Amino acid sequence: MYPLLCRHCTTLILCNRYEQILPGHPKPHEYRFVNMNPYKMQQRCAPSFHKGRIILAADAAHVCNPFGGLGLTGGIADVGSLYDCLLGIHKGLADDSIIEKYSQVRMQIYKDVIDPMSRDNFRRISQQDPDEAGEKDEFFQLCKKAAIDEDFSKEMCMAGLMLRLSSS
Ligand SMILES: Cc1cc2nc3c(=O)[nH]c(=O)nc-3n(C[C@H](O)[C@H](O)[C@H](O)COP(=O)(O)OP(=O)(O)OC[C@H]3O[C@@H](n4cnc5c(N)ncnc54)[C@H](O)[C@@H]3O)c2cc1C
Repeated sequence: MYPLLCRHCTTLILCNRYEQILPGHPKPHEYRFVNMNPYKMQQRCAPSFHKGRIILAADAAHVCNPFGGLGLTGGIADVGSLYDCLLGIHKGLADDSIIEKYSQVRMQIYKDVIDPMSRDNFRRISQQDPDEAGEKDEFFQLCKKAAIDEDFSKEMCMAGLMLRLSSS
């Protein structure tokens, strides 16, 4: 879990950032700050996605930092798996115990795939010199290759299917 800065510090950081990126590089007294909603970055997973008649999926079940686009993607993969389980029960092909299996499998995918990948993504962008990262970081090297190699690009895209398929 990452600490949340106080409102004053967050406002200072935002104002500095706005000055850097907005046209005219405005100072804080040149605009009115209406609202902000700081986002608390977390890597968390519920101890189970299933209790009684309650089933968890997506952010209710697990959260990760947004770098790498694994949050919604992992949530959609949860729901796809849950749909298959519920359909199996509806068609009489499985009993209720398959929901516990859903919980175990999806938790394992979070632990084995989503959590480590998103932690790596966070480290990749936060703990490297941006001027050197493009040359030194293995993942950025793969991205560069994908930009000029269509087959490799498709291969990289398909790797995302691990979120859905690796344990099903
Ligand atoms: C800054 C940021 C960037 C992100 N970028 C990406 C990305 O690029 N790719 C990616 O895959 N994921 C990304 N994510 C993660 C993604 O947004 C979430 O994983 C996804 O939205 C989770 O979907 P969800 O349906 O579980 O929850 P939510 O999208 O949070 O939906 C829950 C809904 O329930 C409603 N709700 C809450 N309490 C109640 C209540 N008591 N009664 C009724 N309704 C209620 C909320 O208003 C909300 O609409 C990002 C997240 C953040 C914060």
